[in-house]
Amino acid sequence: MISSSDTVLRALTDDGSFRVIAVDTTETVRGAVAAQRVNARLSNLLGEVITGSVLVRESMAPDYRLQAILQGADRRTRIVADTHPSGSTRGLVQVADGVEDMPMGEGALLQVARTLHNGTLQQGVVQVPTDKQSVSSAFMAYMADSEQTVTMMAVGCHHAGGQVVAAGGYLVQVLPEAQQGPLMVMTERLKDFEDILPLLARGAATPASLLDETLYGMPYTRVAERTVHFGCNCSPERLSISLASLPRADIESLLEGGQVLDIECDYCRTAYAFSPAQLRSLLENN
Ligand SMILES: [Zn+2]
Repeated sequence: MISSSDTVLRALTDDGSFRVIAVDTTETVRGAVAAQRVNARLSNLLGEVITGSVLVRESMAPDYRLQAILQGADRRTRIVADTHPSGSTRGLVQVADGVEDMPMGEGALLQVARTLHNGTLQQGVVQVPTDKQSVSSAFMAYMADSEQTVTMMAVGCHHAGGQVVAAGGYLVQVLPEAQQGPLMVMTERLKDFEDILPLLARGAATPASLLDETLYGMPYTRVAERTVHFGCNCSPERLSISLASLPRADIESLLEGGQVLDIECDYCRTAYAFSPAQLRSLLENN
């Protein structure tokens, strides 16, 4: 399942002070939101978590899979973003029935995990800052605490008329060579772009214009252009592996009715069917 691609741009200032990554995630978020079927508020949060996860992967570890999980203060609401080195990115919103918003106050957490090539998981967890209660502030806290880098980030998703109009964000990383002067200029400058929703709403948040705006007056070079898209890596094989890991008794109870088992992927809504014969073969290998 592949939607059209979005663009990620990466730039370095010529004086070596800053690295900037800017991303348009509109199509990616549209794909994820269409599959999740949640209200505008939760769609926007999903869009922000997806955008933040892409920015962190692109800046810290473009070659590794990265998952970000935002957990609400109620400990029951979860928003998951899962982004791969290929650019393939998906999302999941888990809410209890009737819950329309994610409580972001005291107790809300952001967890970020990278899967290294040898399969080990590297992860960090931070508290969502209670003064801001925003996805952007949570990702900045993660970058400071777990990645030990000084980073300014803004992510946003603009929803109107029942659909995602635009989603995207940027990340400015202060490099070790940064001098005091440029750092003060940048800090002042980014105060104007802390909230990128106004830019998204008026169609002024393309990656190219985000680079131009954040790096105004600073000579810079674009060093990479990559893409992201909505995509899910589910398959009948992957699904049967997870079914096979169920306790034997559970598989037996699935078999009792003698019916075909219909399963839908939570991330992309692809439907899969397992015949009683396929389920029995799982038992044989269980
Ligand atoms: Zn799927």
